[in-house]
This record gives sequence, C-alpha cells and structure tokens, in this order.
Amino acid sequence: MATDLQIAARKIVSVNPATGEVLRELECAGEGEVAAAVVRAKPAQVAWAELGSRRRIAILREFQAKLHAKKVEVAQSITREVGKPVAEALVTEVLVVLDAARFLIDNAWGLLRDERVPHGNLATKFKSGRLVREPHGVIGIISPWNYSFSIPATETLAALVAGNAVVLKPSELTPLVALELASLLHGAGVPEDVFQVVVGEGAAGAALLRAPIDKLVFTGSVSTGKRIAMAAAERLLPVVLELGGKDPMLVLEDADVEVASSAAVWGAFVNAGQACLSVERCYVHRSLYEQFVKSCAEKTKQLRVGNGMDADTDVGPMIHERQVWIVESHVEDAKAHGVRVLAGGQRLPELGKNFYAPTVLAEVTQSMRIMQEETFGPVLPVMACADDDEAVRLANDSEYGLAASVWTRDRKRGERLAKRIHAGTVMVNDVISCFGISEAPHGGVKSSGVGRTHGRFGLDEMVRVKYLDIDRMPGMKKVWWHRYGKNFRRQMEGFLDMQFARTLGGRLRGAVRAAGVARRKQL
Ligand code: NAD
Repeated sequence: MATDLQIAARKIVSVNPATGEVLRELECAGEGEVAAAVVRAKPAQVAWAELGSRRRIAILREFQAKLHAKKVEVAQSITREVGKPVAEALVTEVLVVLDAARFLIDNAWGLLRDERVPHGNLATKFKSGRLVREPHGVIGIISPWNYSFSIPATETLAALVAGNAVVLKPSELTPLVALELASLLHGAGVPEDVFQVVVGEGAAGAALLRAPIDKLVFTGSVSTGKRIAMAAAERLLPVVLELGGKDPMLVLEDADVEVASSAAVWGAFVNAGQACLSVERCYVHRSLYEQFVKSCAEKTKQLRVGNGMDADTDVGPMIHERQVWIVESHVEDAKAHGVRVLAGGQRLPELGKNFYAPTVLAEVTQSMRIMQEETFGPVLPVMACADDDEAVRLANDSEYGLAASVWTRDRKRGERLAKRIHAGTVMVNDVISCFGISEAPHGGVKSSGVGRTHGRFGLDEMVRVKYLDIDRMPGMKKVWWHRYGKNFRRQMEGFLDMQFARTLGGRLRGAVRAAGVARRKQL
C-alpha cells in the first residue's frame, strides 16, 4: 500500500491526446487530504440537507443556466482533454448534463418528498406510515475519463439534489474537466465543502474508499470495480458499480440496412469507440450480411479522423497509447484467425501516436478476443447468424450485460427479442442514446455492474428510505402485547380466520371468536 508521502509526492499530468500538449500538471491528493475533504464535507452536508429540496433545486437551475451559457467552452475543454469532436462533446456530454438537470428540476421534489404507506393488515389500521427519503451523507464518486463530464456530473447532480455532499475523484487522465464542473457548481451556489474534487490516480480513489464516506458511486472497468466491491464489503459500504460492456447489436432480416449500418458505424466509432455503450459486437442475419458489411465499410471509409477541435472531424484520437495497444492486439488476433478487414485495421501514425483507423471486420467468430473482451476502441466486428434464436444466444454469450440493440421493422418482434436479452437496457432501432434519456435508468447486469444511475432509480440510489410509523391511538395498549392465555390464543385464531378463511362462514365465525379481544387486559 502506498504511504501518504508517496501518494502526495506524485503528480498527474493532463495531456491533449490529439497533440500530446501538456495542459496542466496537478499534485495528487494524499490519503490525509482525501480524508480531510470527507471530514469537511460532513457538517457541510448537514446544512445542505437542511436547505430543503426546493432550495437545492433552485441552485440546480442556476447551474443549468451557467452551463448553458458556457456550453461551447465546456465542450472544448472536454475535447482538449479527451479528444472527441467538439460537436460530439456538446451532444453526448453537455446536452446530457443539461437534460439531467432538467429532469431533476422537474421531478426531484415529487420523487424525494415523503410518501404515505397505507396499511392492509387490520391489526395495524390505527397507525399511519410514511416513507421518508434521507440523504446518505457524503457520497464518494469515482469516475472514468471517457465521458469525463457527463458521468460525474449526472451522478453529482442527483446526489446533491437529494441532500448529499459529494467528494469526486475523477480519472487521472481528465482532472481539468472535473475542476470545471466544480467551478460551475460553486458558481451556482453549491457550497465549496458540499462538492469537492480530489485529483489523483487509483491510490486517491482507494483513499476515498477508506475515508468515512457513506456511499460510493463508481464508474470504470470491471477489474477496478471488483477491487472496489471487495474493499467496500470490508465496511459494508453501499456501492453502485457502473462497469464495462460488450454491447451486441442484432440486425434481423427485416431491418433497414441503410439505417442500421449508419447506426453501427456511429455506435462503434463515437468517442473513437471508447464508450461503455458502444457497439462492440454486431450479429447480422445471413440474408443481409454482405450488403450490411459493405455499407458499413463504405461509410467507415468516409469518416474523417483527426483533432476533435477541427469542425470537420468525425472521429478523434484514443485517450492514450495503452488503449491503442489493446485495440491493436484485438485486431491483430482477429487477423491471425482469418477475418476480412473491410476498413482500417491499423494505426494512423501520420496523425499521432493515439490515432487508430476506424475498423470494420467481417467473418469474425464468437470465440475471438474481439467478440469476448471489451475492446474500447474504434472497431466494428460483424458476424453472420442464422436466425433470431441464434442472435439472442450469441448476444447473451458474454460476461457483460450493459446494453444491446435490436434492429427490425417489426416493433413487436423487436420487443419480444429485447425481453430475451440479458442487459440493463435494450434499444429497438437505436444505439447509445439511452444514456441521454434522463428518465431512463442506466446500469448493467452480470459483470457490467450493480445498481443504477440516471432517472428515478438513479435518484433512489442517492437516498436511504426510512419508514416512519405514527400510532394514532397513543393511549391504547396493543392487543397483541403480554399477557397471553387460552382465551387470547382462541381470539387470535379467530382474528386470523376473520381475515384469511376461504369461506364467508369461516370469516364470520372467526370474527365472533375474535370479538372478545377488545376487552382483554394487557400488562
Ligand atoms: P478504470 O477502472 O481504470 O478507472 C476508473 C476510475 O477508478 C479512475 O478514476 C481511476 O483512477 C480509479 N481507480 C483505479 N484504481 C482504483 C482503486 N484501486 N481504487 C479506487 N479507484 C481506483 O477505468 P477507466 O479506464 O477510467 O474507464 C474505462 C472503463 O470504464 C471501461 O471498462 C468502460 O466500459 C467503463 N465505463 C463504464 C461506464 C458505465 O456507465 N457502465 C461508463 C463509462 C466507462
């Protein structure tokens, strides 16, 4: 384990992946600094919760206005640090956050307020019950680099509106976007100690887990997620884990090839394929296969790869060379097993060390690494399948279960198939946009994670539910209290018969036997 000193001595460097330019160097937060941030957040959270949800919603509205005013600046910062085209940063990051704020502004009050719990049990009719949604306290958020703004921001907004404080540990590759989020939130009126950013590598994330946070929302790889789950189990810390994916796209024989191939190309190459929801496997009905792969290859060859700051760029660089190596090794493995490379298939060194050509592979088979492991890069592997059953079987043959898509002109058929796919989300005739539907829950099954972010279920993760029960007859002893005896037993048998006997006669006899209970003398 790294000591405080070792951690504190380290620096992280934010680098533009398109140009290699160093954007800024920052000191990593040490164990002590991470713990201090959480300790500072504790009393701040109490005051924040006391403000009430209407006031917090007003601050969210202010944040939304500030973000809207700075939309292009924020999008450009994302592009500088992550590489995606500015237009893409506007749509898949800034818009997603503006809309998440809209959802919470419109719905948080209704979703967070107390809820009456009517009682069915006759024995408890004199009580009134209520669900009270309370903030957890301080929520730790650990986020990845690929959606460096929309992931931490959507999680943070839900946590804050529910009355929590947040300590965010962003990816070491994208600290500047997180600091920009902090500046927007503070500018909108969120107190500095209610939202704090601690920058650093994995060690700072591990320190956050050891600090006295009350819940952790983690987004990242399966391997880190497992480590986090084990550390959280030690102290029974509640966690949400949003992990990797290997999302399948199923193209049925009645699909519109022109539309589905455009979707496959966008779904595989958006953010240079570095999206947890990107199309990582494509299964196409044999009758459409040749037409489909040809169309994908033609469209892929038209993509303009380059610096995301250039308005004409469709696909930017990958985040760093380590990610390029993974893509390269998956593609080389596929080539060695005899796939047809219809587009791309190699790096683009003339653009820089982080550029890999958008790649379409045909004749892939299910056992190849490219169909089993998360590639997280600009590769579209396409496999032929015989029918719907085989497509579903192949889609479900994965350790992941984040999202999937089904392409068909028959909505009902699409829905039927969607229900058979093991995934947190299945889209019929679209890919990825579920992440931008603020009402929709986001999260996976199997190795893709535990719990949900976004929408009503995402907000539920940010509160703990307290059941509050008020007895309306404070001067009355409960009939089921001591002192027991033969009579009481008979009366209770009768009480149960009165409610649950199958015949009317049985119920009436039960009521007669139970009647005396009102006169009993308890201790
Ligand atoms: P990663 O797991 O390497 O890192 C994620 C975060 O965890 C970073 O902030 C990192 O510093 C931190 N971290 C690393 N080791 C840690 C430790 N021991 N303790 C605590 N924190 C630690 O993932 P990444 O490379 O940043 O992101 C890519 C992965 O994230 C992909 O697998 C992708 O599918 C997944 N992802 C999932 C979703 C989703 O919503 N399901 C969204 C985006 C990305």
